[in-house]
Amino acid sequence: MAIHKQCASCQAGFDVDDAELAFLEKISPRIGAELHYLPAPTHCPRCREQRRLAMRNERIYYRRRCALSAKEIVSIYSPDSPVVVYEHKAWYSDEWDGAAYGREFDFSRPFFEQFAELHRVVPLMSLDVKSGNENCDYTNLISESRNCYQVVACTLGEDCMYCAFIQRNRSAVDCFFVFDSELCYECIDCYRCYLLTHSQYCQNCSESGYLYNCRSCANCFGCVSLVNKQYHIFNQPVAPQQYPALVARCLSGGICSQEALAHILELRRTSPQRAYAGLQNENVTGDHISYCKNSFNCFDCTYLEDCRHCVWFHKSKDCADCYGWGLGGELGYENHLVGNTFQRVLFCDSCWEGVSNLMYCRLCVNRSNNLFGCVGLRGKEYCVLNKQYSKDEYVALVPRIIAHMRKTGEWGEFFPAYLSPFCYNESVAHEYYPLSRAEALSRNLSWQDNMPYTTGRETISWAQVPSDIASVPDTITRAVLRCGSCRRNYRTISQELLFYRKMNLALPRLCFHCRHLARRARRNDRILHVRSCAHCAEKMLTSFAPTQPELVYCEQCYRDAVQ
Ligand SMILES: [Zn+2]
Ligand SMILES: [Zn+2]
Ligand SMILES: [Zn+2]
Repeated sequence: MAIHKQCASCQAGFDVDDAELAFLEKISPRIGAELHYLPAPTHCPRCREQRRLAMRNERIYYRRRCALSAKEIVSIYSPDSPVVVYEHKAWYSDEWDGAAYGREFDFSRPFFEQFAELHRVVPLMSLDVKSGNENCDYTNLISESRNCYQVVACTLGEDCMYCAFIQRNRSAVDCFFVFDSELCYECIDCYRCYLLTHSQYCQNCSESGYLYNCRSCANCFGCVSLVNKQYHIFNQPVAPQQYPALVARCLSGGICSQEALAHILELRRTSPQRAYAGLQNENVTGDHISYCKNSFNCFDCTYLEDCRHCVWFHKSKDCADCYGWGLGGELGYENHLVGNTFQRVLFCDSCWEGVSNLMYCRLCVNRSNNLFGCVGLRGKEYCVLNKQYSKDEYVALVPRIIAHMRKTGEWGEFFPAYLSPFCYNESVAHEYYPLSRAEALSRNLSWQDNMPYTTGRETISWAQVPSDIASVPDTITRAVLRCGSCRRNYRTISQELLFYRKMNLALPRLCFHCRHLARRARRNDRILHVRSCAHCAEKMLTSFAPTQPELVYCEQCYRDAVQ
């Protein structure tokens, strides 16, 4: 029987339906002969996501020393964070063993308190990166990539800068959710594009700029919802020989004029938009979701089956509340960053490479299994709070801890946000669920007052920088710039200057942080709203809020209108 609950955090009402209850039963761990039922969640799906995201620092980097080698390193952990950090290569070395930090479980104290004490002493990895990257300092959550800078959540990237959530790209700069593309700049949600700038929701487009929702277009500028067109400006055909001059008229110093932008916005307002982005799904709800089946409230996901409330999660089955990764996962619940084959992983953060039967673990990797409340173990099994037990001892001890956690109200809850090694404003939770400093402190969350950037140290004013990129001297890479929005200081690296020159783009006058936030604001929030199709009035679930002015069509009407 479906149950209605009130969120313990935001007080909003939410339903736990029959399918969700059946899932909780299916995923409940069996230890020895006994099945240990998971309770229905006490927090609504959004507050659960906020809590998971408090454990994720994507892009705030600090300089600190590796506690093993004393070498100066780049890390997602601030030097004030009360944790021990090893450079990621040292972390993977045999010079230390996480089991050495093992301790007895104390039944007179809450579990999370004991976990927090363990977490403060076991070495953590400086960055969430796997080996196999080349020349990729200042990147995080990156694998199999080369020559990337300030890139996050990237696989198989080459010469990419200031991007997030990208796969298989070359020379992408300032891109967000871009795949299989080359020479792209300021693109969002684009696939298989080449030489494309300032575009969103495009596929197979090339040598174009300022496109929105276009497919298979080339040499187009300022177009919306066009398919298979060449030499179009503001959705109108132009003579190919006139095209370069007409485009140049819309740009000044590589920047789109206000008049041209107004034209594009008007086209966007009057062109139909799809209710959701995705393809080849069966019985799904969400946005940016493809090749999925029976999956609900999922965003930025591919190849899921029987999943719900998942984000940036791929190739997995029977999972709920998972943020990040997947790729061969089964039976996962309330996890952040768990992937590369896993089975039955509950309430874990950053566990990967063939892990199974993990509960309440952080950073346990490489064929770790049957672990409870452990930190930083590799290839271990039958440990509790990093202490090694025999299988029989483990099977006897874990049910007692679960019973204890039922009494303390901890069983079935993900790590509370106040346990995070990151301050709230360092974590991605702040990006999606912003809190003021006072609000964060009142919720017992920590706040970083010394963010790793400066203001007022600029060595050049924007009036001194030529607007034409060809006239910008090489010495600009030695200058300290000032962000036009947040006033933060930043630099331009030489690899970046070469890219702007090659693409004839203006030097950005906002820092990379503000540029990222602007792109993020151009995507809909990960919330589904009931809205009526602007054509047939059929009710549908879409991430376009009812207050958004776009003309949103249901799938069928969209297909009929734009082909
Ligand atoms: Zn809530
Ligand atoms: Zn800024
Ligand atoms: Zn319709």
